[in-house]
Amino acid sequence: MKPAHPEHPAPADAPARAAIPPVVCYPVEGLPHPDLVALRAARDGWRKVSETLVPPRDARCFDVPAGHFVRITSVEGPQVGDLNLWSAQDLSERFFSGKTRALHGTHLSTGDRLWSSLPFLRPLATITADTLDWYGFDDHGGGVHDVIGTRCDPYTHNLLSQGGQYHHCCHSNLTRALADRTGLPLHEAERHVHDVLNVFMCTGFLRDTGQYFMKASPVRPGDFLELFAETDLLGALSACPGGDCSSEHSSDAARCFPLLVEVFAPQAPPAGWSPAPRNGYDRSHGL
Ligand SMILES: [Zn+2]
Repeated sequence: MKPAHPEHPAPADAPARAAIPPVVCYPVEGLPHPDLVALRAARDGWRKVSETLVPPRDARCFDVPAGHFVRITSVEGPQVGDLNLWSAQDLSERFFSGKTRALHGTHLSTGDRLWSSLPFLRPLATITADTLDWYGFDDHGGGVHDVIGTRCDPYTHNLLSQGGQYHHCCHSNLTRALADRTGLPLHEAERHVHDVLNVFMCTGFLRDTGQYFMKASPVRPGDFLELFAETDLLGALSACPGGDCSSEHSSDAARCFPLLVEVFAPQAPPAGWSPAPRNGYDRSHGL
């Protein structure tokens, strides 16, 4: 957090230093671009192959084969979801929130990709539709679908609440869901839970202190986020105990609603599409 009263005086050339224009760390022009037209055309005549209703303050796993679509839809009332993705063949390849943020920015929308962890780093999924894309950034700097938060978890809650024990944070919900789906012991499953895509959550950073903030999500029933699976995926979604995250999470205080997860199979793979290839780095690390 930036101190209100710094301990060190600014040098004489401080304005000049601060006036240096920023440079985008990772220009994404060089990345292979998803062919959104071809991906969306593959939706014609698609067939729903599964439907999962995620109960409030709980999580569920779902499978999305490569080349299929998954839609996460708000039903009944405004609700935020915490999404984890793994390669279906190898749980050690999982969604890499930090690198996705570095590549695409703090909040994701149509055309952005969800990248996997090192040493894999390939697209796990591509966002093909986002009914909240109209929101952009509000006057507070808030946007939706962030990759800046982590996931609400009982350890942080324990620290902040001086010893509180709350068991329905997204971290615990995802842990139970993954243990249930895989048969892994609870504490082993927990190690595979990772930083999320905060679906529908409205967040940003306060300008004065840099602190992470949330505010009531603009999501309404019928809104959805749609992803195209670039490889075989195992997903898990938690309906956050914060509900629309307008006040607090890590408690049973907020009104919470279910989230609907639907998986669709296209009639044929999108034109020109093939599953995400392995990353091309040779992993010799200079030796
Ligand atoms: Zn949560």
